[in-house]
Amino acid sequence: MIRGIGTSKGIGIGHALIIDEPQIEAKTEIVSDTAAELRRYENVKKKFIADTQNIIEELKKKLKKNDKTSLVLQNQIYLIEDIEMNQQIIGFIENEHLCADAAVDRTCSLYADIFASLDSEVMNQRVADIEDLKHRILSMLSGNVTVDLSNLEPDTIIVAKQLHPSVTAAMDTKHVVGIIAEKGGETSHAAILARALEIPAVLSVKDACSKIADNESVIVDGEYGEVFLKPIEKTVQIYTKKKKEYQKKVKELKKYIDRETVTSDGYKVCLAANIGNEDDAVKGMKSGAEGVGLFRTEFLFMNGVSMPDEEKQFEAYKKAAIVLKGKTLTIRTLDVGGDKNIPYMGLAKETNPFLGYRAIRFCLGRVDVFTTQLRAILRASAFGKVRIMIPLVTSLEEVLRVKTLLKKVKESLDKQKIPYDKDIKLGIMIETPAAALISDLLAKEVDFFSIGTNDLTQYTMAVDRGNENVAYLYSVFHPSVLRIIKYIIENAKKAGIEAGMCGEAAGNPCMIPLLLSFGLDEFSVSPSNVLETRKNIASWSIREADEVTTSVMAMCTEKEVANYLSDYIAAKEQRSGFASQNKEDKSSAPARAVAFASQTRRI
Ligand code: PEP
Ligand code: MG
Repeated sequence: MIRGIGTSKGIGIGHALIIDEPQIEAKTEIVSDTAAELRRYENVKKKFIADTQNIIEELKKKLKKNDKTSLVLQNQIYLIEDIEMNQQIIGFIENEHLCADAAVDRTCSLYADIFASLDSEVMNQRVADIEDLKHRILSMLSGNVTVDLSNLEPDTIIVAKQLHPSVTAAMDTKHVVGIIAEKGGETSHAAILARALEIPAVLSVKDACSKIADNESVIVDGEYGEVFLKPIEKTVQIYTKKKKEYQKKVKELKKYIDRETVTSDGYKVCLAANIGNEDDAVKGMKSGAEGVGLFRTEFLFMNGVSMPDEEKQFEAYKKAAIVLKGKTLTIRTLDVGGDKNIPYMGLAKETNPFLGYRAIRFCLGRVDVFTTQLRAILRASAFGKVRIMIPLVTSLEEVLRVKTLLKKVKESLDKQKIPYDKDIKLGIMIETPAAALISDLLAKEVDFFSIGTNDLTQYTMAVDRGNENVAYLYSVFHPSVLRIIKYIIENAKKAGIEAGMCGEAAGNPCMIPLLLSFGLDEFSVSPSNVLETRKNIASWSIREADEVTTSVMAMCTEKEVANYLSDYIAAKEQRSGFASQNKEDKSSAPARAVAFASQTRRI
């Protein structure tokens, strides 16, 4: 078995087709008749645009209605029509007498270098699009034919060094059951297209083209990033079964995409997504989320070598707000420190970083950093329904100081006549026992709570989950953690504010009946868990959730709770026929949920 990055889920079983795209060396001739060379370039440009439009039309037929993935190729048209890019190419031909091939080659390399140097993985992945464009134009100029995958044998698994978006888009998708490539990652356009076309894909598989032989039988597991070469009969049987189960599950979950999140007896809750950057917002919306319950902004700070300025932050928050089209976007202010170090901030090494200078403590110490972020968030609030959320609160004074600073930032925006949402909501994360125990007091000062069970479990249990020796204590099913969650939600209800949860427990199937019964208003989970959570919520009535919760809250130990919930849900799944058909798969959903609750702190 060889590994790579699983970028499009699903299982493909078939035979390999190695794609050996010839490397085209651009001619480097000097020409005297520049007018003729310009004509040659313009003709090829026209053909490139027409061909790309054809590929887009064909691709649209294969994609679902309203799927915008064809924009991936539309961007290549925008690029070749770009005035600056054309001026560059034409300039090379007219002024330096380069042949069209060399002019295109040099211009594309310049653009690729710019994209590669940008401090964003998404932008870096655009280099592959420029290379695709260059490769196709050079092929046209030299009269070479590009790879044609429009007519393939059934059950083909494409194996390539790098799969260009145009090749992926134009391939015979009826017969392709898997994609393996040596290059590319989660955000590469080949991966985006593979996901939209629902073809399992594993990218970044080292030396795939030399390790896999043409026509060899291969299994691709796009979820776990695994590729099995010449699998034995038993493996084929196991994966054929897994493939069927996966297809059944996908079909089942798809029914939930445009539905409300509602229990079987009609109790409605909000199901939102947790995101780490503005591009994740798209993923969140595609997954059927009703908003964003947590935007972890620290990644914006961690991915660079210097502090993102107000403009950069504003652009990121604004982009997410626009993507959400009026659905709520909850932006958490900088949660630095603890296990999230940002080297350029020069934070001192601490003996107990989780108990140290982190999150709101840092922000209130570095008012310059904090007010810059607040300004950026407020400005973005003019473009959607944005909320502000403060992490790691432990005292009322912290909340009051935040409110004073927020007021000042609003006043300075008013003076500058910069628009923002005057009714923007301010909420806090409840993730320390201190905040939980004064949640009745805090509730009077803020608009909403969001329970951060990842930290709340750590602090309630006094257990550093990085320490394996005490990991057995890290569990949201411990009666103390359950009581504290219940208490927080009760206090939110009494004060009439919204209670949400964005810690991992919100998506844990075993926690769902308890959270429904406690009255949680918003469940915020990772995008990949949205539909499963919606399905889980739909399987409960409030009456049944209340009964289970009454039993659980009378229990004295974590083990008792975990075992009871795991058994109860396994039996419930059996009854409704959702249980795993695969007897060899010991990791049933409830068993996984219990194991996961005692070892995971973040996504
Ligand atoms: C939490 O603590 O539950 C949470 C959502 O925050 P993070 O995991 O980013 O600390
Ligand atoms: Mg936290």
